[in-house]
Amino acid sequence: MIGVLALQGGFERHRAVFESLRKESREVRTVGDLELCGALVIPGGESTVITRQLMKPGTGPGTGASYEPGPLWKAIRDFIESGKPVMGTCAGLIMLARSCGDERVASFGALPVDVERNAYGRQKDSFVEQVALEFGSDSPFGREKENRAPFPATFIRAPMITGLGEGVAVLARSRRFLSGEQTEGTPILARYDNILGLSFHPELNPEDSRIHRYFLGMTRE
Ligand code: GLN
Repeated sequence: MIGVLALQGGFERHRAVFESLRKESREVRTVGDLELCGALVIPGGESTVITRQLMKPGTGPGTGASYEPGPLWKAIRDFIESGKPVMGTCAGLIMLARSCGDERVASFGALPVDVERNAYGRQKDSFVEQVALEFGSDSPFGREKENRAPFPATFIRAPMITGLGEGVAVLARSRRFLSGEQTEGTPILARYDNILGLSFHPELNPEDSRIHRYFLGMTRE
């Protein structure tokens, strides 16, 4: 069973993609929900809002008390540590990153990347970029031809990956803000063990389900 964290944000569209792939999913709002799942998606939305819902009320910036994680935050952290696959898109990437430079976000620190919130611009600057997926020849679903088709990546107030830790595999890059000596493009899809983090929203282009299928492949590894 695939769980989709449903505290806030774009969880329904992720579930629709899984449904189109005939894969059962459920909304996760409690520790009990999560216990029924073998994989988890943390959707886009607003990472500060998602954080507030996962923390004990009355703790965190502005309250005078430091953050105290609530039961679901701890359960998700344990879920990640147990090695079950987790995919974070956009705000979900921020929740998984090791740092985002914003004290209002209590991320899980599971994906060794640094991100900068909203670095691809504001809502009105949203864009779709055709990007290459670099799943490689051992891609669990891939016929080679399918792997080479560009993927329409939708960016909405997206976080930028600004630093990569050791052992993080980059599976797609954006060429939107190439600067100076940089020729490679900015990482936008990163994998580290059981964790997949994306700057963009694959669930908004459901006609191309390769990324969701790749994630389902991770549940079978
Ligand atoms: N800007 C949002 C954040 O910082 C993420 C945007 C999104 O998920 N589309 O949480």
